[in-house]
Amino acid sequence: MQIGVFGGTFNPIHRGHIRLCETAKEQLVLDRVLMIPAGMPPHKIPPELASGQDRAEMCRIAAAGRPWLTVDERELRAAGKNYTVDTLASLAADYPEDAFTLIIGSDMLTTFHQWREYRRILSICRIGALCRSVVEQEAFADAAERLRKEGGRIEKLTVPPMEVSSTQIRQWIKTEPSRAAALLPEGVAEYIMTRGLYR
Ligand code: ATP
Repeated sequence: MQIGVFGGTFNPIHRGHIRLCETAKEQLVLDRVLMIPAGMPPHKIPPELASGQDRAEMCRIAAAGRPWLTVDERELRAAGKNYTVDTLASLAADYPEDAFTLIIGSDMLTTFHQWREYRRILSICRIGALCRSVVEQEAFADAAERLRKEGGRIEKLTVPPMEVSSTQIRQWIKTEPSRAAALLPEGVAEYIMTRGLYR
């Protein structure tokens, strides 16, 4: 099986995240995608960070009706700083028969060579990186070429941009909840309201 790995803070998960997962699934022919909410060391918890349980639950709600999309809580269980390389190594140990594709946003490919043990990451998985705009294309191509020279398997994902971020959503929940709801996967706005998150 070809498994997509999509990590994020997901505070909260929004439609841009889901669209990226769907694009990766289609364009890279993935069988499954794992959403992996990030853990946070207690001394680094930023204001407005919902608990790991709430963030994971919102991911589960967002995944409803998409059996190929699931939540993996290993980084939350580790309850500290998680490095992508360690998460991937642990996944590879759990699923020895499968192949992995790390799904990342466009801004991340250009700084990928600064990630801890990035060469080992390249050896474990293929990278599916989003290229959001024509403006980004040149930087994307340069970064991809540099990593390919080191043996990286870099795939470009293209998707029409969806202007949404979790930061914007948290703001709108306070001021314009209906605007936030429009950009949240079905059921997630209700969960946020019921739990009183981000108020
Ligand atoms: P924040 O605003 O709190 O920084 P965020 O919306 O960027 O959050 P993250 O959980 O940090 O969300 O993102 C996880 C991944 O999703 C990252 O790789 C990021 O590049 C990607 N991503 C975030 N927003 C979008 C979007 N609108 N379209 C496509 N990819 C996105």
